[in-house]
Amino acid sequence: MNTPKLRMRKLVIIGSGPAAHTAAIYAARANLNPLVYEGFFSGTAGGQLMTTTDVENYPGFPEGILGPEMMLRFREQAARFGTDILTEDVTALDLSVRPFKVTANKTPSEAQSIIIATGATAQRLDIDGARDGEFWQKGVTACAVCDGAAPIFRDKHLYVVGGGDSACEEAIFLTKFGSKVFLVHRRDKLRASKIMAERAQKHPKIEVLWNSVVTKVEGADVVGSVTIQDVNTKAEETRVAGGLFFAIGFTPNVGFIGGQLTLEDNNYIRVTPGTTCTSIEGVFAAGDVQDHEWRQAVTAAGSGCMAALAAERWLSAEGLIE
Ligand code: NAP
Repeated sequence: MNTPKLRMRKLVIIGSGPAAHTAAIYAARANLNPLVYEGFFSGTAGGQLMTTTDVENYPGFPEGILGPEMMLRFREQAARFGTDILTEDVTALDLSVRPFKVTANKTPSEAQSIIIATGATAQRLDIDGARDGEFWQKGVTACAVCDGAAPIFRDKHLYVVGGGDSACEEAIFLTKFGSKVFLVHRRDKLRASKIMAERAQKHPKIEVLWNSVVTKVEGADVVGSVTIQDVNTKAEETRVAGGLFFAIGFTPNVGFIGGQLTLEDNNYIRVTPGTTCTSIEGVFAAGDVQDHEWRQAVTAAGSGCMAALAAERWLSAEGLIE
């Protein structure tokens, strides 16, 4: 097989969520002719919003908009201004040379500047029965919105682990399908925003199991039961269950960077505060891959805009564009 010819680019953008596409829109309109690697095996192109239902807090959509539809619109807007989009994963970067080298599944490229906007991936609990080859994807998942409508969950007791906004949102979503939803939280107070916490706690089909963790998943072909442990007494109880959903936060997608950029202790890319500048000049980071605090579509989009403008300024200051 022929290796496709290296493409030399002023700007390569890695990612496909609000940060990546906003960066692409700004860069394309500035005639930087950006190349976007939107991913393939690494997860659904479009990022976390592809697995969300109604987005009600993105300004400009007073009636709300479905996450996947919103991302399609972001992508169309980026393409409209001349962004080239490759449905491939970036597998490695060489940031020690100029131009930078980008290795992908099929089409490598060289880039004078790079914006990394690869987002973050839902975390899983490493417990008996929930691993690959056990009940993972056989009733155990980390995305209620993607998987919750599957027939195996209908009219069953469903368990959601976590106490944040995601856990509350997923529990509420699952009430459409399960006969009852249990929110299993390791503490005695939810981390979720007040409005989400109240909605979940007031829902007639949701019960919160406080100070509790799931220690085991069992079943025949699919999940049949979960074992819940009281963290204070250590007492365990095995309960009939049709599904287990993890909503315990996210891990930033930085594996392909190979340690070449400075990361925070929690592995998010470190940027100079108030900017999108990473530890290497000409490499910028935007969206959830550098933001463990706000993690909203609108903040991701805002940082994508900042990254594109910063890249343009940097390319200009380096004499790489007119
Ligand atoms: P999060 O806020 O980090 O919450 C993660 C939850 O999982 C916490 O309650 C945490 O418990 C629990 N947890 C973590 N590791 C655990 C483990 N090993 N075992 C058991 N429990 C564990 O994550 P998130 O809920 O996904 O939210 C991420 C961000 O997105 C937040 O900023 C959130 O506001 C935002 N978000 C917003 C919406 C919305 O507004 N509609 C929806 C989803 C997400 P502790 O509380 O004890 O740490």
